[in-house]
Amino acid sequence: MNRDLKIALVGNPNSGKSTLFNILTGLKQKTGNFPGVTVDKKTGSTKLPGPSGTTVTAYLIDLPGTYSLQPKSIDEEVTCELLTNKSNPDSPDLIVVVADATNLKRSLYLVTQLIELERPVVLALNMIDQAPRLNSKFKIQTLEERLGIPVIPISARKDTGIVELKKILARPIAPSSKKFISADASPSAASIERYNAISAMVENIVHKEDNNERHALTHALDKILTHRIWGFACFLIVLLLIFQGIFYFASFPMKWIEELFIDFSKWGRLYLPSGELTELLINGVLAGLSGVLVFIPQIALLFGFIGILEDSGYMARVSFIMDRIMHKFGLNGRSVIPLISGIACAVPAIMGARTISNWKERLITIMVTPLMSCSARLPVYTLLISLIFPVGQRMHFFNINGIVLLLMYLIGFFAAIASAFVLKYLIKSKEKSYFIMELPVYRSPRWKTLSYTIFEKVKVFLFDAGKIIVAISVILWVLSSHGPSSKFSATQNASEKLKNSYAGNLGRAIEPAIAPLGFDWKIGIALITSFAAREVFVGTMATIYSVGDTKNTRSIREKMLEEKDPVTGNAVYSKATGLSLMIFFAFAMQCMSTLAVVKRETKSWKWPIFQFLYMGVMAYGASFLVYHLFR
Ligand code: GDP
Repeated sequence: MNRDLKIALVGNPNSGKSTLFNILTGLKQKTGNFPGVTVDKKTGSTKLPGPSGTTVTAYLIDLPGTYSLQPKSIDEEVTCELLTNKSNPDSPDLIVVVADATNLKRSLYLVTQLIELERPVVLALNMIDQAPRLNSKFKIQTLEERLGIPVIPISARKDTGIVELKKILARPIAPSSKKFISADASPSAASIERYNAISAMVENIVHKEDNNERHALTHALDKILTHRIWGFACFLIVLLLIFQGIFYFASFPMKWIEELFIDFSKWGRLYLPSGELTELLINGVLAGLSGVLVFIPQIALLFGFIGILEDSGYMARVSFIMDRIMHKFGLNGRSVIPLISGIACAVPAIMGARTISNWKERLITIMVTPLMSCSARLPVYTLLISLIFPVGQRMHFFNINGIVLLLMYLIGFFAAIASAFVLKYLIKSKEKSYFIMELPVYRSPRWKTLSYTIFEKVKVFLFDAGKIIVAISVILWVLSSHGPSSKFSATQNASEKLKNSYAGNLGRAIEPAIAPLGFDWKIGIALITSFAAREVFVGTMATIYSVGDTKNTRSIREKMLEEKDPVTGNAVYSKATGLSLMIFFAFAMQCMSTLAVVKRETKSWKWPIFQFLYMGVMAYGASFLVYHLFR
């Protein structure tokens, strides 16, 4: 007979819980939300080999990582509620606690608390590949006796011990009767008592010299990487290398993609019947598509680098060295992760702020994260930088373009920090906060997972952002190749036509408001459309400058470079205008998805509206200043 089983995976952050969950469930997993709170709920199923040839279907739930059953964040609260409340519909039949074998003493705090719930518990002693001395029959057996639960040494990463674990899970398991503290102690005395009990328990099991080699390396590296001066210097160097790397490596595939689309358009002109539909296809759809595809190399590289930082354990060091400074600005050491993830995209970054338990610090993090230069700004910056700084200009051996790009990222970062500092005084709260962050040992990144992450992110960009970009490209093509008045149909001149089109009318309507920033009505059109999403700017530019270009032989960059002010005859994309436009993009809240996520995370419209307004005011003011400084 088959039977079903509900299993909860629990463990400290970084214990390898997700890795084990992925191994057990494979593709049979899905992500949802816990009711009422914005915490991800990962569930999946797996088949376990039951006694005498039967199978047991196990439903797994991967709970947010926690250090103890005294919750300090919303994530931890969810985990604790689910484990302690037996009437919760997700209440498990069996708890699998994943512990990092190289950090057994710390892991046992949660393990002993779980055992005291008097529910069936199995300990999956993970990362045993890193702690070979612990993996002896004697030690495992002793640990089992002292805890009163089955202990299975596994390596989720190397896929060892998983078969044994599955076999144990399929068997009926009785709850342990062990108690590790006396029932009437106060909470603080109880935690001291628990620590003492754990110290006694690991006697003869864990040796100080275990993992010495690996920990020695981590220790030596940390002496530099978490140093109060060298730590920051190293971080800055890492950032510089990343941005130089993105610029250099992405430039080749970007060129190929650009050329490919020029070929496509030429081919279309040659072989498709001329008419409205062909125009739509070439100047609407193809133009938009190339605007999306051309930035995939950069996005892939950026996510690749972030993934390496995260997976190697270096990201945790960055949080660690930033904590002291972060507090001065009303932020938390943990804010660094959302802020840095904001370099990729503010949407997941803002969701990542959930791990900050202090509400005020979390709110400030959410409010300022969109100021970090996200990947959607990258196409805008690279296009504008290449317009105002000739390609190949160098300062010593650094590429000027790379340096300007790094500056834009730094401007975003400092704007975020400064805004946080102001918000610290504007938002009132009495909550105190504290920072616990462990520093995991350094590991080499998992290349397979990394490539999967890159693939996923590119896919999200292609399909989520890409959809909007192509749709807007098409709408724009319609708006810019059709017009309301007879003036539009009367003229044959391409630029006159655009001026009299619907888009031209819209852009000219806002021109008086944006002229002080150095923007003309064509930029005005792109500003309007990029409020849907920043990267739309490039697609819009492509469409605007494609209208009337029946030869399609030049890239957007070339077309924009040749653009002249009709009155003065000077290039439209002067240094002043280009810089002003970049600053506008650095500060303005031009992303619908981010606003929607902020509404979801703060459960009120007040904060996204506030965010939209304060960033808008900053953008306008800063652009005005920059334009007049550089003119
Ligand atoms: P979670 O935070 O508990 O979900 O942890 P993850 O599954 O994200 O794993 C944290 C880190 O530990 C990742 O870098 C994993 O590659 C690594 N890891 C997981 N399991 C093992 C293992 O068995 N051995 C080793 N050496 N590393 C592991």
